[in-house]
Amino acid sequence: MLSLSISDLHYWHGTNRVLHGLNLHVESNSLYCIVGPSGAGKTTLLKILAGQLEASQGSIQWGGQDMKSLGPKQRATAMVYQNYALFPHLTVWENVTFGLEDEGLSATALKQRALDALKLVDAKEWAQKRPQELSGGQQQRVALARALAQEPKLLLLDEPLSNLDAVARVELRQRLRRLVREQNLTIVCVLHDQKDALAMADAIGVMRDGRIIQTGLPLDVYRRPLSSWIATFLGSANLFRGKVLRTGAGEFIARTAIGEVRGALAAPLPEPVEGSEITICIRPECLRLDSLSPDENAFKGKIIESVFQGDFSLHQFQTNSGFILKTAEINPRQSAGSKALIYAWAEPEDVVGLLD
Ligand code: ADP
Repeated sequence: MLSLSISDLHYWHGTNRVLHGLNLHVESNSLYCIVGPSGAGKTTLLKILAGQLEASQGSIQWGGQDMKSLGPKQRATAMVYQNYALFPHLTVWENVTFGLEDEGLSATALKQRALDALKLVDAKEWAQKRPQELSGGQQQRVALARALAQEPKLLLLDEPLSNLDAVARVELRQRLRRLVREQNLTIVCVLHDQKDALAMADAIGVMRDGRIIQTGLPLDVYRRPLSSWIATFLGSANLFRGKVLRTGAGEFIARTAIGEVRGALAAPLPEPVEGSEITICIRPECLRLDSLSPDENAFKGKIIESVFQGDFSLHQFQTNSGFILKTAEINPRQSAGSKALIYAWAEPEDVVGLLD
């Protein structure tokens, strides 16, 4: 099985420390998405995996072997760049076959490879066109075909969705998922849009300052962020401070400015001691609105502002103590302007305690 394991990877650009003890494990035949702010070192990591840069320190194991010891054929790695890097003066066919001659393939085998790759991304009909005659989404598919023609086992994608419109993005997300399922392929993909990563990844890694600071299933990382920074990087969050009253069995009860709350701790964090300060995170969609008071985690107040978006509304809910909570209501019934006092409440499992 060709899994990828990176440990304690360091990289310096001159005096600039770009990767800083990075650890990462990617399962074989999976789609792993790395998200992080600009400058986190994402592209540098991809370039090291592609063999274009050499790590200053650390180890990369690919299929159980040291990647450095593998020749290009054994590495079986291809990279697709953010700007596609297609040759404008060559046709799609010439772009896809470019470099394949060096592999010593017969003319028939070369033709078959290119055809198979173009078919995988439904780009066969553009074979005689030039890149500038194609849309951004189509060019991205050609760039993908060119990489696939090399029959990689590890495909590295740098921001593959960033220049695409909404329809093309969704289409390419599904296509990449299909490729992983059907082509015995592992994909490591760098994205800046967290929603794309959550939607298509088998696992995600959040990268900051040259390190992966949290990794796991998209659902787990989104629901149980390890820090306030990760919580807000991945989506909208209500964050407020509290003092721990009790803890036990992965749960806590804390006193906060809006009342007592009961919640869960993000799994790997040590339990906070009683009396210590904690940050509480509740995502807007975890807060429900009700006219009756639920037993716990219920905050009385009213909606003071509301943005209706059709399938859901985003409300600013002001608690009686004056604190503003963002709430998202699916199939909205509530709007601002109603004088009625209601409750915003959350299940304890949707209230997450963070230690920063
Ligand atoms: P990301 O892809 O997450 O935006 P990069 O890997 O492109 O981040 O860059 C990470 C850091 O490395 C940035 O601070 C950037 O300025 C620096 N860097 C990238 N390329 C070079 C280079 N050729 N020379 C010096 N510094 C560089």
